[in-house]
Amino acid sequence: MTILVTGGAGYIGSHSVLTLQNAGYEVIVLDNLVYGHQDLVENVLNAELIVGDTCDRPLLRQIFTDYKIDAVMHFAAYAYVGESVTKPAKYYQNNVVGTFTLLEAMVEAGVNNFVFSSTCATYGVPDSVPIREEQPQNPINPYGATKLMVERILQDFSVAYDFRSVCLRYFNAAGADPEGRLGEDHNPETHLIPLVLQTALGHRPSISIFGTDYDTTDGSCVRDYIHVLDIAQAHILALEYLLKDGKTDVFNLGNGNGFSVKEVIETARKITGKEIPAEVSDRRPGDPPALVGSGAKAQKILGWQPQYSNLEDIITHAWQWHQKRHQ
Ligand code: UDP
Repeated sequence: MTILVTGGAGYIGSHSVLTLQNAGYEVIVLDNLVYGHQDLVENVLNAELIVGDTCDRPLLRQIFTDYKIDAVMHFAAYAYVGESVTKPAKYYQNNVVGTFTLLEAMVEAGVNNFVFSSTCATYGVPDSVPIREEQPQNPINPYGATKLMVERILQDFSVAYDFRSVCLRYFNAAGADPEGRLGEDHNPETHLIPLVLQTALGHRPSISIFGTDYDTTDGSCVRDYIHVLDIAQAHILALEYLLKDGKTDVFNLGNGNGFSVKEVIETARKITGKEIPAEVSDRRPGDPPALVGSGAKAQKILGWQPQYSNLEDIITHAWQWHQKRHQ
């Protein structure tokens, strides 16, 4: 079986390539390398890398002609919530137009299994937590809106064409390969756990807590952190589900446990043994107060069983990666 992985040079994509390879799949990576790491794909994963964009229709046609692709896992997207508020056009172009171009090329080529990286950002401010899949989706930032639009396109494609998909709505991806081969390496980095660990390493003077006046236990935002390898494992299960004729569906990937920004910083202090200075700053636009997801449906239908669902493991693996990277 050969799987085309778009965005395979990125954080969640690269961990998923590793997990696919370990499960015996052939992997071809398509990545435009705007944020991805060529070196990871070529030297760590030893996977074939095609450098290009999902908006490039002729390139996609060529790929589907040259290779017999059984399924596509689509990670390629811009994913900075804050930037999506200030540069929405960039997000609609890449995340919606790029994905649509890919989907059209798949239908044309008769490649009909698709696993999509969706997000809890499609829910907006939820009416209750833990969030279940049938709850209303009202995104409050353009990033979430782009992902919701693709979800809608996928539903319509599965009605009209011989095409099936699984949307995985991730909560907050975090952690790293416990063996230290891969980890989170964004540039610029905006995510909480890597920024906290960069502060622990002394690369930043302090971590900013974006708002302490939310309606949460300690006033800071609450998120459900999911280990990146548990997310990768869910992709394999979704793929197997589709290859066994599973119908188009959507699943939340959440642990059902929320941690506040302050709790994350406190846990990181314990694990690293470092002081990690923190300061309170303004709220960040586009941030819902609390996002916690129920993974019950993925557990029941896909058989998903997260291996690293506690925050200590997640931060420990991330810390090992950060230390190794900055040796
Ligand atoms: N956050 C923070 N300081 C930072 C970065 C993030 O307080 O320097 C908060 C952010 O407001 C959110 C949570 O940490 O409530 C997780 O943010 P992240 O960017 O990691 O993921 P997101 O929830 O946006 O996908």
